[in-house]
Formats: sequence, C-alpha cells, structure tokens
Amino acid sequence: MTPEFNLIATYFTRPTQRATLGVGDDCALIAPAHGCELAISTDTLVSGTHFFANADSFKLGHKALAVNLSDLAAMGALPRYVTLALTLPSINPAWLDEFARGFFALAESSGVELIGGDTTRGPLAMTLTVFGEVAAGKALRRDRGLAGDDIWVSGNLGGAAIALKHLQESAAIPKEHIESALACLHTPIPRNSLGCALVGVANAAIDISDGLIADLSHICERSGLAAAVNWPTVPQAPALRSVSPELALTCALAGGDDYELCFTARENRREEIATIGNSAGVALTRIGKMRAGNPHVTVLDAHGEPMNIPRAGFDHFTP
Ligand code: ADP
Ligand code: MG
Repeated sequence: MTPEFNLIATYFTRPTQRATLGVGDDCALIAPAHGCELAISTDTLVSGTHFFANADSFKLGHKALAVNLSDLAAMGALPRYVTLALTLPSINPAWLDEFARGFFALAESSGVELIGGDTTRGPLAMTLTVFGEVAAGKALRRDRGLAGDDIWVSGNLGGAAIALKHLQESAAIPKEHIESALACLHTPIPRNSLGCALVGVANAAIDISDGLIADLSHICERSGLAAAVNWPTVPQAPALRSVSPELALTCALAGGDDYELCFTARENRREEIATIGNSAGVALTRIGKMRAGNPHVTVLDAHGEPMNIPRAGFDHFTP
C-alpha cells in the first residue's frame, strides 16, 4: 500500500452505520431521511491563519470538526456525515494519531460519520464538509427574523478572544480563568442539541464565529431589519470580569471563535426557550430586539444610549 492509502486506512477509515457507502470508493453514498433536506457546509482551517503551526493536534482535530458542526447547529440541522480534506507537510504518525483521536471523539459524541475526503501534501490545512438533516422547510435561516423579535444568545461571549490575546501576550487574565478561556479557543463545544431544539421556535439564527456584532449584522442584512443590543445584558466569559471595560467590550462584541448561537424569536416563545435552554444545559440570555429599520446593529449602554463600538468582526481580506 502507498503511504497515502496506508494513512487513510490507518487513521481515517471507520465502519459507517448510516451511510450506504463510506471511505474507499470514488464517492460516498448517502440517503437523506424521508421528509428531510440536507444542510451542507464547508469550513477550512489553515495553519498560521486559524491556528498556530505548533498547535496540539488532538485539539485541532476537535476544533476543525467543531467549527463545521456549529454551522449545522445554526441551521437547526442534525449532524449526520462529514468529509475531511487534509493537507499535510509530511506523515507524522504521532501527530496524525492525536488529530484522529480528537476528531473521532467529537464525531462520535455528535453523531457524524466520516464518509470520505482527500489527502494531499503541502502546508498544513484542513477542509471539512458537514452534512446534516433538517425537516424540509424548517431550517433556521438568517433571513427569517421579524421586527419585534427578541434577540437571544447562548452561553457567554469573549472567552476565545481573550484567550487569544493572552497567548499573544497582549492581555493578562487571572490564573483561575486561563483554563476556561483557552478551552473556548481550542475546544469549543458546538451547540447542536440547542440548534435542533430551536427548530419551529426560533425565527432566524446564526453561529457566532466572527463576533456578535458582525454575525448579528448578517441576520439584519438578510432579514432587512435593524437590531438593538443592550450591552449590560450581554453574557460575558468569566475571564472578562477582571479586564478593562474597553477590552471586555471588544472581546464580547467583536471577538471571533466563540461558536455560540445568536437567534431571534417572538416574545411569546420566551418560556419555551427557557425550557429548551434548561434541557440543553446551556444558559440562554435575551440581549435585545429586532426592529424595522436599516440593517444595522446598535449597541446601547445602561442608559439606553448608543455606544461607540470598535470595528466589528474579523475579515480575512481586510488589510
Ligand atoms: P480519488 O483519487 O478517487 O479522489 P482518493 O485516493 O483521494 O480517491 O481517496 C480514496 C478514498 O479515501 C476515497 O473514498 C476518499 O473519500 C477517502 N479519503 C481520502 N482522504 C481521506 C481523509 N483524509 N479522510 C477520510 N477519507 C479520505
Ligand atoms: Mg482524491
């Protein structure tokens, strides 16, 4: 067997239960469940852009899958299948072993099967495509927000951003919060049970990968609505409690990589949503309202006055 096929057979071939055909042929074969649509999403992680070249490969395996699963969560789709295109500078068995362990641990706990991929030589990068199932016509879309909707967010925000600043030595966080902040950055937990439970309850949804303001702006644009967010109600990562108010604001509102869900829903859904949060084991917080108006996010302070917010979100091509 060539090294390439040996690598695929050793690390990335597992029996599939749901797919008709998994790794080993020219294509995988899958049949979506009756009455369901397939939700499909691709994300790439590139060494030096999305992670440090010396990153722990177990965590990388986890995160590469987690950021893709998060997109399924944001659509309310049940995770089913994944493909993995891996570009490696060389074959390093210890690295691959850990990467596969991190990847399959999350794959198994979230119910996705690895059904195929590609393996190439080059600068370290990985591209995953995930496939989820959602009842036809029921996916949580960015363009379904309505004026008067509450805006909700899961978990808390800013942990990943402050962890990155900690690693870059541009911010100091107290010892007791370092571990939890680093976990937000390296091993985010995608909100898949929550996303599925919100189908038929939430109107619009998005996952927060580029920062709350940037991602909520996408709901605004696609739904043709304005959003008002009350800053004092935004749940902040514990590590932000002891940093300057300006830094806390930047990390919680414009920091990326949190992978929490932001969604909108009618006011009469509040009790149902609280129950959903309890069963999914995740805090859900109301942080503002969708309103008629130009697509734009306004952040209000404790007095209801608009605040000046640092440039929102991350963009790969912004110089
Ligand atoms: P092809 O030449 O037809 O593209 P490949 O030789 O690239 O096929 O891959 C052989 C089989 O192994 C295919 O089924 C492909 O989906 C699978 N595969 C290749 N790389 C990976 C990987 N990193 N993870 C999972 N499956 C993979
Ligand atoms: Mg190939």
